[in-house]
Parts: sequence; C-alpha cells; structure tokens
Amino acid sequence: MMGSDVMDIVTLGEILIDMFPSEVGYRLADVPAFYPKPGGAPANVAVAVSRLGKKSAFIGKVGEDAFGHSLIDVLKQNGVETRGMRIDPVVRTTMAIIAMPDENTAEFIFYRNPGADLCLRADELDQELLSNTKVFHCGSLSLVDEPARSAQFQAAGLAKQGGALISFDVNFRLSLWANPQTALAQIWEMLALTDLLKVNEGELALLTGGTDLEAGCKSLLAKGVQLVAVTLGAKGSYYYCENASGFIPAFEVETVDAVGCGDAFIAGVLVQLSSLGDWKTALNSDFLNHTFTYANAVGAVTALTRGVIPALPGAAQVEQFLKAQKSILL
Ligand code: ADP
Repeated sequence: MMGSDVMDIVTLGEILIDMFPSEVGYRLADVPAFYPKPGGAPANVAVAVSRLGKKSAFIGKVGEDAFGHSLIDVLKQNGVETRGMRIDPVVRTTMAIIAMPDENTAEFIFYRNPGADLCLRADELDQELLSNTKVFHCGSLSLVDEPARSAQFQAAGLAKQGGALISFDVNFRLSLWANPQTALAQIWEMLALTDLLKVNEGELALLTGGTDLEAGCKSLLAKGVQLVAVTLGAKGSYYYCENASGFIPAFEVETVDAVGCGDAFIAGVLVQLSSLGDWKTALNSDFLNHTFTYANAVGAVTALTRGVIPALPGAAQVEQFLKAQKSILL
C-alpha cells in the first residue's frame, strides 16, 4: 500500500459548527447569545493526531459559506491534510446549537436537514488518500442518512483493502436517527468492517445488552472486532483483545471541561498503533498497557482546558505530563 505520501491516520465524518451558549442556566430558546466553535468528533481526532506528531487527513463536506471555509482553515492551521474535503454548493455547513440549562445537562438542536456533512457522496472520495493510510477512523453520525452512509462504507472498504486498521467510535446520538432500530442495524454493519472499536459504558450496554465489561467485549470480539477500547470518563479506560485485557485508571486532574476527552483519547490510541509496522503486533498486554496509559494522559490533559480544539495537547505536553506523573508516583 505504501506510496510516497502515506498518511498515518485518515478520519472521515462530521465537521460542523457548535454554537455554545454564552451562559449556563437557560433552555435553548432563552439563551441570550451563542458562540461558534469548530466541532465534529472525526475532525477533532484528525487535529489531535496532528498535534501529537503524526500525519493526518480529514475527509468530509462543508457548505459554500463562511463557516465552511473557516472549518477548512482550522484543519489546515493544525497541519491536517484537507485535499479530501468537499464543498457543497447548495447545502449549508452543519450546525449544532447547544444550551446548558444547568452544569450537567446539555440540550442540542442539530441544523442538519440535511447539513453539508451528510451530503458527502461515494463518488467524491479521494481514493488515493484512503488506499494509502495506516489507519482509517470514523463514527456513526455519517451513517444516519444517504449519501454519506454509502460514502463511509465505501471509504472504510477501500482503506481496509489497502491494509489499514479500521477504527470506529460508536459515538451514539439517538436523537439524530429516524428510529433506534435503523441506528443499531447501521452500527452492526459498520462493526463487520471494524478492527478497533471505541465505546463508552452506555454504548457497550446498548450493543451487548449487559454492563459487564469483559463479557460485553468478548461478545464483540466474536463479531470480528480485534480490539475494544472502553472509555470510563474520570475512572479511566479498559481494553480487551483475544490475548489480553486490562483496566487502566485515569490520571487525577483538576477538570475544567471533559468535552473532547474521548476524541483526544482515541487519537492517543491511534497514534501509538500507527507507530508500528503491523498494528496486529500491538495486541499484547505490554503494548496495550503503555498505549492506554498514554491515551488516558492525552484525555486527562484535554480535561484541563475549556473547549475541544483549544484543549488538545501537543506531543511534548503529553510527555511532560507523563513525566510529572511518574515523579509524583516515585
Ligand atoms: P467519551 O465518553 O467521549 O468516550 P470520556 O469522557 O470517557 O470519553 O474520556 C475519554 C478518556 O479521557 C477517559 O477514558 C479518561 O482516560 C480521560 N478522561 C476523561 N475525563 C477525565 C477526567 N475528568 N479526569 C481525568 N481523565 C479523564
């Protein structure tokens, strides 16, 4: 597969504007002002990977409008390859309007009926990019409707044919789907192509019908997944593969805002896996203990700063954090 321009990680999916509320304490219709911020989990992962020192590209679609162009600029400023980006001449850049009635509750309206991100077509895919990457990463938001659904399946298939590890973050958002049955059917279809699956505890229960980590992960391996990564918020993370499993506790940090920690965490896992010639050699407890400790650190540092993209750390920052933690432990 290796050409001269091989990517470490190509991500595909939603890139959008999150409109954050100026103040906590209001329902959606009463929020006094909103602030636009770049968002979309796969786009965040591409930025996180680039900051951690690996080559990343993002594939997705924005509208021919000021927000669309500013999102492409954000990717470029962060060193993410954007030649796989497409611009829809008619449909607007996708937007999510957010309210926080209280500190622990978020209300969303997605302006996506459709939004440009869902308009990505299979015939618009940059095939060369997909055939020359070590890792392909995506989520479930592009599976909500056509034509993005077919585009994602085709992209994952191309990357797999080229020898890439296929990584899938379930990132389940029930409100975006016509019904839960369609959501689950599409997610299962994606799982058939998936090597590395990232879920949180709720998603694991949704897919497996139980809350036991080991039993749940085991049943997902029976479907062909090679490695399951379970994020456990401030508790840490858990990994499971055929020959190894382990719980890695989180680093204790003064949390300012945990939004984006999951994207930072999976970027950390993918950066470690892409550093190997063959990712399958990673499936042992030594490598995975190290990888998940590193990914927990990337997640923890992201929790220290408000926002997602402003909070994503660089490689040196993560090294420094890990060194400081080690000296605390000694
Ligand atoms: P998601 O639910 O989006 O998958 P999480 O919120 O579980 O993501 O965060 C991913 C990872 O980031 C966790 O597994 C953990 O390692 C780290 N993390 C998240 N929140 C915190 C926190 N408050 N303190 C320390 N680490 C955290």
